Amino acid sequence: MSKSSIEWTGFTWNPTTGCTKNSAGCKFCYALVMSLRCKFMGQEKYKNGFKLSIHQEELLRPFRWKMPKVVFVNSKSDLFHEDVPLEFIKQVFLTMNATPQHTYQILTKRAKKLAEISSELTWTNNIWMGVSIEDERVVERLKYLKKSGAKIKFLSLEPLLGPLSNLNFKGIDWVITGGESGHGARQLKKEWVEDLQRQCVKQKVKFFFKQWGKKQFNPNPKDPTMVKGNPSYAKGGCELNGKIYRAMPIIKN
Ligand code: SF4
Repeated sequence: MSKSSIEWTGFTWNPTTGCTKNSAGCKFCYALVMSLRCKFMGQEKYKNGFKLSIHQEELLRPFRWKMPKVVFVNSKSDLFHEDVPLEFIKQVFLTMNATPQHTYQILTKRAKKLAEISSELTWTNNIWMGVSIEDERVVERLKYLKKSGAKIKFLSLEPLLGPLSNLNFKGIDWVITGGESGHGARQLKKEWVEDLQRQCVKQKVKFFFKQWGKKQFNPNPKDPTMVKGNPSYAKGGCELNGKIYRAMPIIKN
């Protein structure tokens, strides 16, 4: 378990590590870079680099956390990856079911598998389930998420690579969006973000704008949140028309 710098979570927990690229949003996969770095540093858990690996020993870890935590599950993998056996996914769920003091946020790009096996999993209130959608080519992931039994469902629309118009958020509690960062980052356009924010207001869904990604994508060169040291600092800043949007579902435990 590690403290996370991701704005919408507290900690990360990786019962599996490694993955394979799945769609355009994976192009600059941060998990891949970090996993190879951990391997290079000699960390046993990452000895396989970015090859999908199961870590049975991680299943007991949440029982040892003394304080309730908000945890992003598999920041360096995808729990619903085709190489993760159903039996292991069930074990991860058993751990989450048995530790209701923690809130778990799972994010996948394998939404079809999620829908297919959802009925075999127990969806306690502390499990938030999300899918990543970066552009219209993969928007069907939303349909699969809706089929899951999760009590709290969310969308991670990042890195946002194109417009996502007329989304139907029925049954969706939370929308996160943001731009890509780093070398070669693909442009985020203001009108895409504004459109999503409007859709969230109209459909009464909580909206979280994480970052522009790069200063040059931010239409306001004076956005104070692009300055390190600002309490709301984010890569490239995070103001949208002078406002910060960081709404989240209520953590019930
Ligand atoms: S699904 Fe996620 S972890 Fe896997 S390659 Fe794509 S971005 Fe990386």
